[in-house]
Formats: sequence, C-alpha cells, structure tokens
Amino acid sequence: MTVTVDAIEEVSMFSRVAMIVVSLLLLASAPLHAQDAISAVPRELLDDIVVGSRILADLGIVDGFGHVSARSPANPSHFLMSRSLAPALVTADDIMEFDENGEPVDARGRAIFLERFIHAEIYRARPDVMAVVHSHSPGVIPFTVSKTPLRPMFHNAAFIAAGAPVWDIAKEFGATDMLVRNNAIGQSLAQALGDKSIVLMRGHGDVAVGSAVKVAVFRAYYTDVDARLQTQALGLGSDITFLSAEEGVKADATNMIIMERVWNLWKLRVQTLLGKP
Ligand code: MN
Repeated sequence: MTVTVDAIEEVSMFSRVAMIVVSLLLLASAPLHAQDAISAVPRELLDDIVVGSRILADLGIVDGFGHVSARSPANPSHFLMSRSLAPALVTADDIMEFDENGEPVDARGRAIFLERFIHAEIYRARPDVMAVVHSHSPGVIPFTVSKTPLRPMFHNAAFIAAGAPVWDIAKEFGATDMLVRNNAIGQSLAQALGDKSIVLMRGHGDVAVGSAVKVAVFRAYYTDVDARLQTQALGLGSDITFLSAEEGVKADATNMIIMERVWNLWKLRVQTLLGKP
C-alpha cells in the first residue's frame, strides 16, 4: 500500500513540476501584447459588436463605411470598436480598445477610424449610453439637408418621438471635409445629441445610441426605415399623423422588450450569409 501511495505522490509531484515548466514556457513564448485589455471583455460583447456590424451591412445601413462600438465593461471610460475595416468584414480579433479621448490603448500598428471621436465624446457626455452606431444610411440623408424634421412614422421608430436633432458641422467649424476628425468636433456632435437616441449629421449621416449594441443597431436600422417611409408619406401630399410623444414613450418601452426577436433573426441571417463570427 505504502509503495502505491508513494508512487501516486511521485507521479503527482512530477505532473505538478511538469505543469509549472509548461506554464513558464508558455508565458515566455507568448507575444508581449497577447493579453491586452480586450481579454477582460466578455466574448459575448465582442460577438455583439461583430454581429451588429454585419447586420447593419446586410440591411444596407452601412457599406464600406460606418462603425459600431460598445462601452468597455472592464473600464467604463473606454470603448471597444473594430480597427478601420468595412463593417461586414469585422471579426472579434479586429476589436480594439480606445480611451476616453478616442486614442487606441494599444494600436500595434493597426489602422483606426478617423471618426472615432464620435464615439469617445458621446460616451463621455452620456453615461447611460453603452453602444454607438455611426452610419451614412441613405434614407436619412434627405432629412439632414432639408428643413423637414424627421418624425416617428410607426411604432418601431418610436424613439424618434423624443426628437431627432440635426447637427451641422459648418455652424462651429466652417467648411470642413464633413468628418468628425477630432475631439472638439465630437463634443459639438455629442452636445447636439443631448439626451436623445439619434442625431442627424448634415450632409453626412447619423448616429444612434442605446443601452446595448442591439438597441443601437435597432435604432440605426429603424431610423433609416422611418426616414424612407416619411419621404413616401410626404409624397402623398396630405397631412401626416405621426406618433405622439406619449405614444413614442410607450412604444419604445415595448420595443425594448421584444427587440430580442428581431436581433435573433438578423443574427441568424448574417451567420448564414457570412459564417459565424
Ligand atoms: Mn461618417
């Protein structure tokens, strides 16, 4: 019996030593930056950014341009966004961490979005916002350049009842290339957003925010649908009855509950079309 116990102990000791040696070897061979802050982020959140990016591409809300971000749960003043890449091509490995000023925590030579200041300044100004989508969705553009305000046409776009301000970059910054390429421009945009769910950008596109990636994606999509429907309704030439502010609040609360259904449908579509992220 004693021999057997000793043998077990010997084996056990041997495996412990072996494990330590293997661990040390792994540590020594790991690239210096392999374990950056992204590793502290739940995989589900990275997948939401990937799936959200691909959904918006599939729905025609983004093309080669546009981006989806999420506030970092590991460091809430930071946010997560892909390297500069067409949204349909984003994978979890492309997600990078950015600080409160929109600067990459560990760029490692990767190209980054010029308009990351949209995200940085909105996260700074709005502690309730957990996700941001920026797009140039075509249906919305007419409402960024005309005097006709975007209004809530139907219950899916209920969040528009709270307001859809239009921000004009030229008002503060004169003639530019229209891009939100620094913190000051980002701050101006965040200020125009105020406490709303969307802000339209004159001659450029829009930004949708929400309490989760799926909420911001939902709002980005239905902002575009709503804009197209309003353009159609305006063509009918008679008065339009929009959702009232109270209907907007009530319908938005319901949308928050049933959103999962359409998110799961969109997710399945992009996984079928583009493969699992
Ligand atoms: Mn843009």
